[in-house]
Amino acid sequence: MAVRRSVKFLIRPTSKQAAALAQCLEDHRQLYNAALEHRRTAYRKAGVTIGYGEQSAELKEIRKTDPDGQGRWSAGSQQQTLRRLDKAFAAFFRRIKAGHKAGYPRFKGRGRFDTVEWPATKNGASWDSQPHEPATRVYLLGIGHVRVHQHRAVKGRVKTISVKRDGARWYLVLSCDDVPAEPLPATGAVAGIDLGVASLFTTSDGEHVAGPRHLLTTADRLADAQRDLCRKERGSERRRKAVARVAALHAKVRRQRLDTAHKAALTLVRGYDVIVHEDLRIANMTRSASGTIEQPGRNVAQKAGLNRSILDAGWGVLLRVLAYKAESAGRELIAVEPRNTSRTCSRCGHCARDNRLTQAAFRCLGCGHAAHADVNAAINILRAGLALRQAAEAA
Ligand SMILES: [Zn+2]
Repeated sequence: MAVRRSVKFLIRPTSKQAAALAQCLEDHRQLYNAALEHRRTAYRKAGVTIGYGEQSAELKEIRKTDPDGQGRWSAGSQQQTLRRLDKAFAAFFRRIKAGHKAGYPRFKGRGRFDTVEWPATKNGASWDSQPHEPATRVYLLGIGHVRVHQHRAVKGRVKTISVKRDGARWYLVLSCDDVPAEPLPATGAVAGIDLGVASLFTTSDGEHVAGPRHLLTTADRLADAQRDLCRKERGSERRRKAVARVAALHAKVRRQRLDTAHKAALTLVRGYDVIVHEDLRIANMTRSASGTIEQPGRNVAQKAGLNRSILDAGWGVLLRVLAYKAESAGRELIAVEPRNTSRTCSRCGHCARDNRLTQAAFRCLGCGHAAHADVNAAINILRAGLALRQAAEAA
């Protein structure tokens, strides 16, 4: 079995290469905005819908008339940029058709365009461009052979190469096809996990996997930095620095979250053949927003709100990482509806709101069963998942 996977590496451009990368991003942003403007005007003035095909056909002319600008970069990455716009429009029309509220695709402001993608099959970009040198490099047309901090092996076939700016850092993302799956030996164990705040999650075996404390510390600093930013005068040097500080902290939060998710997901797929979790789309709606953040400190509402959103995103990242690790390891992942999992007794099935004494304590009013509330919920989640599985097998 083979799967599709992306790997991300930090790259270390020279200062000259970094300047070229920034210029490359900027030109692709302008191309994106120009193509968007083109579609808008054509539709508004003539009622004409322009698609990817027409826009892509114009690239040749654009590159020829602007050899020192757009002409410097790869036609492949420019096509990918136009495709990206095309996808934004497709999503917009899909939402309209489905009767949802949809925002018209927007122009990308300076800080809002941070990725350029190259097809790896053309000559605009190539992975491991100098295979006989000790350092790994990636070749990008107009930028050069950029050094890659390659901390792990690349498996499968490199399909696309992207460069992403994140704060002051640059990353390379390789999307690979035909990556061989690496199934793990069966353990015979199954688990339910209850996603939480005090702990990132709790397993039905009673294990609490630590909440990302360091994440909350960064979140506090981020809240402070954001407040600080509000006080800075527009256009000032101090404001520019404050913006950079906020961006760097956001990037740090993302890195910490991903790191936590990787470690936690790895432990789960190593330990269990079947893992059942709550369906997050439903869980987020039913969870109450208050009373779960411990010691929120100053600016309670603002910080609690920010911390929450950071933790919420943490669950999403965890489940995404878990999904691909489970697929690669040949593990089964089941999502269940979370309704009542926290107020139902895992021993007798009695369901009542008053079963839940506090955030942490569960005591059944029916049979007296006492347990940690999250462990009780995780057992219910596991049970619901196994029932779903059994029903699917019987069908
Ligand atoms: Zn009970």
